[in-house]
Amino acid sequence: MRIVLVGPPGAGKGTQAAYLAKNLSIPHISTGDLFRANISQGTELGRRAKSYMDAGDLVPDEVTIGMAKDRMEQADAENGFLLDGFPRNVSQAEALDQMLKSEGMKLDAVLDLEVPEEEVVKRIAGRRICRNDSSHVFHVTYSQPKQEGVCDTCGGELYQRADDSEDTVRNRLDVYHTQTEPIIDHYRAQGLVVTISALGAVTDVTERAMEALRRLKGEQ
Ligand code: ADP
Repeated sequence: MRIVLVGPPGAGKGTQAAYLAKNLSIPHISTGDLFRANISQGTELGRRAKSYMDAGDLVPDEVTIGMAKDRMEQADAENGFLLDGFPRNVSQAEALDQMLKSEGMKLDAVLDLEVPEEEVVKRIAGRRICRNDSSHVFHVTYSQPKQEGVCDTCGGELYQRADDSEDTVRNRLDVYHTQTEPIIDHYRAQGLVVTISALGAVTDVTERAMEALRRLKGEQ
């Protein structure tokens, strides 16, 4: 399956993507994670992306699209992928459509995670991520690690992302509404969108998502 995950920052895309990718046996491709990996490795691409990310703005398309394409062309993505954080504006969506079309492929679903704005701000402000693996995510009140600052899963150091500060979150939400939300209409026109609530326990949201994907597949 080829799936795109959309939703505001803090909707839990990364968390859900990790579970869904595992359930569906497809790679989880997160452009945010790819950028963060480039930054921590000190690459030229990371250097170009950093200032945009720290401000909560989108990294320019000419950097992002090539990076996403390279990743999607790797062998493990041949039979499907779960995209998390890409496309993030209409021109990226058009580039993806074009890329798939030229390979004779198409998307199967666009999973839209819905969450109220106040909840998003609360989730992000308390979010702590493991330095070893960004799918190991905790929260200072909702999902506390056993030992403060230490990842339960692998013992890695937990940290707050630079772009999770309150001011930057507001800008990210703005960017989401103005630039990313329009891709939902773009894909709705193709009959690909399923919207689910991202509230409640992580496992409930995953189950809801799997159910919605089965339903959509049944309809297609
Ligand atoms: P979140 O979904 O919580 O906002 P991500 O890890 O997906 O976090 O993205 C973090 C930042 O990385 C974004 O605010 C943006 O600066 C950059 N980024 C990620 N994906 C893209 C993309 N497709 N296009 C442009 N910028 C991106």
